[in-house]
Amino acid sequence: MSRARVLVLNAALGPLDYRVPHGMTVEPGSIVVAPLGPRQLLGSVWEPERLPSAAEVGDNRLRPLLAVADVPPLREPLRRLIEWTADYYLAPPAAVLRMTLASTSALEGARLLIEYRATGERPARLTPQREQALDRIGDRQGLIRELATIAGASDGVIRGLVKCGAIEAVEVDIDSPYPVPDPDHAPPELSADQQAAATTLATDVAARAFRPTLLDGVTGSGKTEVYFEAVAQALRDGRQALVLLPEIALTEPFLQRFHARFGCEPVAWHSGLRSTQRRRAWRAIACGEARVTVGARSALFLPYQDLGLIVVDEAHETSFKQEEGVHYHARDVAVMRGKFEDCPVVLASATPAIETRQQVATGRYAELQLPARFGLAQLPAIEPIDLLAEPPERGRWLSPPLVAAMRETLDRKEQVLLFLNRRGYAPLTLCRACGHRFQCPNCTAWMVEHRLTRRLACHHCGHAEPTPRACPECKAEDSLVACGPGVERIADEVAALFPEAKTAVVTSDTIWSPAKAAEFVGRMEAGDIDVVVGTQLVTKGYHFPNLTLVGCVDADLGLEGGDLRAAERTFQQIRQAAGRAGRGEKPGRVFLQTHSPGAAVMRALVTGDADAFYEAETDARREAGAPPFGRYAAIIVSSEDQPAALEIARLIGRAAPAVDGMHCYGPAPAPLAMLRGRHRYRLLVHARRALDVQDVIRDWLGALEWPAKVRVTVDVDPYNFL
Ligand code: ADP
Ligand code: ZN
Repeated sequence: MSRARVLVLNAALGPLDYRVPHGMTVEPGSIVVAPLGPRQLLGSVWEPERLPSAAEVGDNRLRPLLAVADVPPLREPLRRLIEWTADYYLAPPAAVLRMTLASTSALEGARLLIEYRATGERPARLTPQREQALDRIGDRQGLIRELATIAGASDGVIRGLVKCGAIEAVEVDIDSPYPVPDPDHAPPELSADQQAAATTLATDVAARAFRPTLLDGVTGSGKTEVYFEAVAQALRDGRQALVLLPEIALTEPFLQRFHARFGCEPVAWHSGLRSTQRRRAWRAIACGEARVTVGARSALFLPYQDLGLIVVDEAHETSFKQEEGVHYHARDVAVMRGKFEDCPVVLASATPAIETRQQVATGRYAELQLPARFGLAQLPAIEPIDLLAEPPERGRWLSPPLVAAMRETLDRKEQVLLFLNRRGYAPLTLCRACGHRFQCPNCTAWMVEHRLTRRLACHHCGHAEPTPRACPECKAEDSLVACGPGVERIADEVAALFPEAKTAVVTSDTIWSPAKAAEFVGRMEAGDIDVVVGTQLVTKGYHFPNLTLVGCVDADLGLEGGDLRAAERTFQQIRQAAGRAGRGEKPGRVFLQTHSPGAAVMRALVTGDADAFYEAETDARREAGAPPFGRYAAIIVSSEDQPAALEIARLIGRAAPAVDGMHCYGPAPAPLAMLRGRHRYRLLVHARRALDVQDVIRDWLGALEWPAKVRVTVDVDPYNFL
C-alpha cells in the first residue's frame, strides 16, 4: 500500500492524503489529479514531513489518485521556494503552487488545438456588433474565448462570425520546439569596464553557485550587454537562464535586442500570452528546452529544469512587488530562488533600492559598477526650474525656459520627452457652478478625466463613466472644469505651442500590450514622433539616440503622500526619466520643474551626487528603524460592511501580542478608506529586523476568528502605503 501527500490547488484546504493506485508511480513534485468530493483537483505530491497534515486519514479510507500529468515532477529547489514564499509572505502554499502551475492546459498532455482567426472576408450586412468585433480582432488569433475578450463581445458573437465565414478555425502545432539561442551569434566588443564585469558574471555562472550581485551602472552604460554575456555562459553550459523585466511593455524591445545578440528570440512569459503560447512555453520551460526565458514577475515560479542564472533588470522597480494574492516581491524571491537553485542572481539597476545597497554594504551581495555611459554618450546635465520664479502662463503647465528648450530641440529635429506621472487629462474634475467633485462610487478617490476616451475613470478600481455634459448635482451645463494636469492635458498644451510637432501620449492606457510598445518604439526610431508625453512607463529601459531633451513637468509629484520611500522613489523615477536623454552621440539636457529647488532630493538630482543622497536617506531609515533596518507588515481588514470591518480590525488590534521589539499601530482607516466597494482599516506592525514577525503574526491571527464577509490580508514588507 502506498500513500501520497498532495498539496492540492485549493487555498482553503490543507494538504490531503491519497492512495497511489497499483501501476501508478509518483514522487515528490509529481503533478497529479486528485478526487475531492465529486470534483477533481490538480496538485503536487509533497514530502509528508515538510507539509504536516492536520488530520491523518487511515489507509483504508484513502481515495485513489486519478492520474499523473505527463510533465516532469517539480524539482526540489522549486518545492523549497514554494514553501519559503508561503512562509515568508504568510500565504497558503497552494496559492504559491498555483503560480507555478500557471497553465493547466500544459498539464493535459499532447493534444491537438484549434484556434480561430479572421479570414479577411467581410460578409455584407454584418451587425454593428460583429463589425466592431472584427475590427478589434484584426489579425489576431486565439481561442473563441480569447477573441471574445479582445473584441469585448460574447462568445456567441465570435461563433456567429465563424458561421458566416468571417472567422475560420486553424489547427495549431502547439508544442513545436523553440529555436536555440547562439551565444556566439553577434557578441559585442565590450569596453574595458564592461568586459571586467561580464567576465566576473560569466565566471559566476560557470561556478554554479549562489551568488547575488548588484550590477550598478548609470543609464546607458550597457548593463544589458554585460548581463547578456552571463546569459551566453549559461547557454554554453547547456543551462537555462531567466531574465525578469518590470513591465510587459518592455518585453518587445528586449526580444528584438536579444534577437540581434543571440540570433533568435527567447521564450517570453507574461500575462498577455494566449493560452496556447502559455502552454507551449510552460512545457518547454519544464523540460529544459526553453533555454532563455524573459518575463514579468510571474515567470519566477515556473518549473525550470536546470536554472543557471537569474537576472532582475531594473531591479529597483516597485512593480516587482505583487499587490494581489500572494504579496511577494519578485526581486527578493528571485534571490531566494537563486539560493535554492545554487545559481547566481544579477540585480541590474542605475538607481538601486536602499535595501539592495544595504545588502552590498554588509557584504551579502557582490557589486559590479559601470561608472560611465557607453561610447561617446555623456550623462545629461540636469537643471532645476523654480516654478515660483519662472511660472508658466495662467492655465498652462510648461514654464518659459522649458518651452524655449523644447523649441531649440525641435528646431534641431531632435526629440523631446515630457515626463509626468499622471494618466488622463486632469486628476480632478469639478463643477464651476456648485463645486461638485466627481468621486468614485467604490473608492475614496477622485475620478480622473480621460479626454481621449471621453470618460471619467477611477485609477484604483477601474470604474468608468462617460463624462457628463451637465453637473449631476446642480444640473448646470458645460460647467465642468479640469483641475491640475495629466499627460493628455500636457499633450494639448504642446499641440497649442508647437502645432507642427507630432506628439504621442505614452501611458498604460495607450501602451497596453507588447505589440503596442513595439509600435511606439518603431515610430520613435523612424522619427515619426517629436514629443513624447509619458508616465513612468516611458522612463524604463528605452533607448532613443535622437531624444535629447527631457522635461519633468512636476518633479515634486512623487513626494506627495510622503510614505517612507517617497524621496527615494522620486530620485529613482526622475533619474530614470533623465536617463532617457542623450543616449547617443548628441548630448542631452534635463529640466526639473519644481516648487522646492532647495529640497535635498532636487539638489541630489541636479548635482548628480547620488551617494550623498543615498547616505542621508539610509541614515534617516536607520534612525527610524525603517527597512532595511527594521521591518513593517501591514494588516488590512476590509469588508463591504463597515462596522464589521472596524470591529474585526479592533479585535485584531486588542489581541496584538506584547513582543519585545515589536509595535502595532492602529487600526486606522487606510488612506484609501474605501476600495472597490470595501471599507478598509489598516494595522501597521513595526518590528526590529531580527524578529520573526511572520511567526508572531501567524500565531496572533491564527487564534482569532472573523465572519466570511470580512477579509484580512497581510502584506509583509509593504511598498504600497495606501
Ligand atoms: P543600460 O541598460 O545600462 O541603460 P544598455 O545596455 O541599454 O544600457 O546600453 C545602452 C546603449 O549602448 C544600447 O544601445 C547598447 O546597444 C549600446 N551599447 C552598450 N554597450 C555596447 C557595446 N559594448 N558595443 C556596442 N553597443 C553597446
Ligand atoms: Zn474606484
